[in-house]
Amino acid sequence: MTAKKSGGCLCKSVRFEVDGTLNPIVACHCSQCAKTSGNFATMTSTAAGNVAMLSDEALRWFQSSETGNRGFCSRCGSNLFWKQTDAPDIYITAGTLDQPTDLKISGHIFVASKSDYYDITDGLPQKDEW
Ligand SMILES: [Zn+2]
Ligand SMILES: [Zn+2]
Repeated sequence: MTAKKSGGCLCKSVRFEVDGTLNPIVACHCSQCAKTSGNFATMTSTAAGNVAMLSDEALRWFQSSETGNRGFCSRCGSNLFWKQTDAPDIYITAGTLDQPTDLKISGHIFVASKSDYYDITDGLPQKDEW
């Protein structure tokens, strides 16, 4: 998967390009993703250096935990990125990627924290936490 991928927020204020491999998508069911996404979050990841910002003046970062930061568009509210301080990878919400993504969901994490209004029925691997 070496072709460049692009993506961005709903209002197009934030646009980015990825030059490098995007890892299979994980669906995160933690309570923080539920709040920021309104549902579980599906995220791919790549080395942070692979992501080039084409337009990011509306991009803001919210420190959501001791080591975690979430990037979102301050104009339209799109949930775009998750990045841990000192970690080499950046996580990108899969829905913000332009199609085709050529990616698939590979499994579920933080299943123990998921809300009670839905069931996971796709048969993919599930982890209670990370
Ligand atoms: Zn936006
Ligand atoms: Zn999460």
